[in-house]
Amino acid sequence: MTTAVADRTLNALDRCDRCGAQAYVRVVLESSGGELLFCGHHARAVEATLKPLSSGWHDETGRLHEKPPVSVD
Ligand SMILES: [Zn+2]
Repeated sequence: MTTAVADRTLNALDRCDRCGAQAYVRVVLESSGGELLFCGHHARAVEATLKPLSSGWHDETGRLHEKPPVSVD
């Protein structure tokens, strides 16, 4: 699996292409190299269709359940 696209972390400016919620999954299409962004909900909804067509499936939905980082000193 090659990743021509930088493996950047998604942030609050990345929005789901379907509903505009914050995106937690970035899909790189194998055919065009284009990126699609999805929230956790829509990532699940399109996974069966898109995953076979994708060259990259960057899933950060685990962060949904993370607590905000707390500085320890
Ligand atoms: Zn969505």
